[in-house]
Amino acid sequence: MRLLLLAPPGAGKGTQGERLAAWSGARHIAAGDLLRAEAKAGGLLGREIAAYQARGDLVPDQIVLDVLTPAVTEAAARGGYILDGFPRTLPQATAAAELAARLGVTLDAAVYLHAPEPVLTRRLLDRASQIGRSDDKADVIRHRLQVFAETTRPLVAYYAERGILVTVDADQPPDSVTADIQARLSELSPTRPRRHGSGFRS
Ligand code: ADP
Repeated sequence: MRLLLLAPPGAGKGTQGERLAAWSGARHIAAGDLLRAEAKAGGLLGREIAAYQARGDLVPDQIVLDVLTPAVTEAAARGGYILDGFPRTLPQATAAAELAARLGVTLDAAVYLHAPEPVLTRRLLDRASQIGRSDDKADVIRHRLQVFAETTRPLVAYYAERGILVTVDADQPPDSVTADIQARLSELSPTRPRRHGSGFRS
């Protein structure tokens, strides 16, 4: 299975990504986690990534692609992937489509998890009190939600145009969200007609 999770901060894409990976046997590839690991490793690149993340700004596309491409390439050759937080910009989406074409694979679905902004903010503030990530502060959370609305939400239309968008209400308990995603994915027929050149199709 090859999926991507498109969701604002706090919608639960990490939780759902892990569950869908366990369910399908595909690898959960969380862009934020891979970038945080790179940041923790230090060096010039690590410090640069850490600074973007702490501000709640997107890490530049080329850095993201350099970090994500090896993981996606490896997963494509095995049980597939659940991309969590990648792509997040239109240039990243184009690059991901080109990578998939090079690898000879196609994307089954782009799952858009949505929830009202006050719900997202409350969840992130709750998490802040438990985990203490550098970007889980009220002003940075506001900025991350704004970055999503301006830069990442346009990908919803991008994948809708390609006929692979699945929209799920994330303002429900985690089990219900998982069940909804699974139900929607099992409705997808492998022979479902799709437009030629639909991004991840080869
Ligand atoms: P959240 O979705 O809650 O913001 P993530 O762990 O997915 O959490 O992302 C945290 C941060 O990592 C983002 O604010 C950004 O700085 C960086 N990041 C993650 N994925 C990407 C991406 N695809 N492109 C650019 N930056 C990213």
